[in-house]
Amino acid sequence: MEKVILDGQLVATNIKDALKDKVNVLKEKGVTPCLATILVGDDPSSATYVKMKGNACEKVGIKSLRIHLPKETQTDDLLKTIDELNQDDSVHGILLQHPVPAQIDERKAFESIDIRKDVDGVTSRGYGETALGFGKYPSCTPAAIMEIINFYNIPVEGKHAVVVGRSPILGKPVSALLLNADATVTTCHSRTTNLPEIVKQADIVVAAVGKPNFIQGDWIKEGAVILDAGYNKGNIGDVDYDACYEKASAITPVPGGVGPVTISMLLKHTVKSAEETLQN
Ligand code: NAP
Repeated sequence: MEKVILDGQLVATNIKDALKDKVNVLKEKGVTPCLATILVGDDPSSATYVKMKGNACEKVGIKSLRIHLPKETQTDDLLKTIDELNQDDSVHGILLQHPVPAQIDERKAFESIDIRKDVDGVTSRGYGETALGFGKYPSCTPAAIMEIINFYNIPVEGKHAVVVGRSPILGKPVSALLLNADATVTTCHSRTTNLPEIVKQADIVVAAVGKPNFIQGDWIKEGAVILDAGYNKGNIGDVDYDACYEKASAITPVPGGVGPVTISMLLKHTVKSAEETLQN
């Protein structure tokens, strides 16, 4: 059987090339797509992520509005900033970088993002609409996983997909997207018993655990497709790559798998949001 390494860079490049054309068309119509990123505090990883997202925007012609608030920021101050961005017609997407400092009510802040600008899929309405199958902007990593699956024409209908992880931004929404694509989905978490036995039944494995090399090679059914969303210190995924590679028919590497596509989905959603403003 031919083994496929699912190349996230390739998928991301394709998305970004298509976006450049769309951005040019929008600009000709007088609209410059704009993503506002909000970073609260000085966490170095968060600062790096926000910078990467802003730079990726600029490379395809999307305006990047970078807002950096001090670590002492209170919930009300953050809500005020988000409200200003909600009101600003030149802003098409709002990304609040997670996590925010402990004194802030992060859920309240997420919920205050206008649904039309929730390009990162963090509001409960956005999540609900995604789960019901008509969400415009699913959260970006789940959307990236589906994009990779579609790019490589991986069959989903009737397949057993096992998602390891149930976070609101990753495990839960990707489970919903796979279910909407007619997979039979099992979502596992830290209280799941017999995890290896369940993963062994999977035609598609999505690793979203946050633990390096967690998914073991002998848990994988011969020929399964593995999508590793994990991104741990030292560029290590949630899947024990070498051992799982031996069993899989297709697998995403880390780095160069889900990560680059995630950023592209954020850009894609921002451009779509800008396009929507012309239709209203
Ligand atoms: P998270 O919020 O920490 O959630 C981790 C999930 O894994 C939880 O649902 C947890 O279960 C489950 N889990 C933990 N230990 C487990 C165990 N022993 N057995 C089974 N399940 C277990 O993490 P996240 O935000 O979803 O992120 C997951 C991974 O994806 C991380 O490596 C993160 O860096 C990466 N990530 C990557 C991108 C990207 O762009 N590539 C974006 C976002 C996240 P409970 O619910 O029971 O606690």
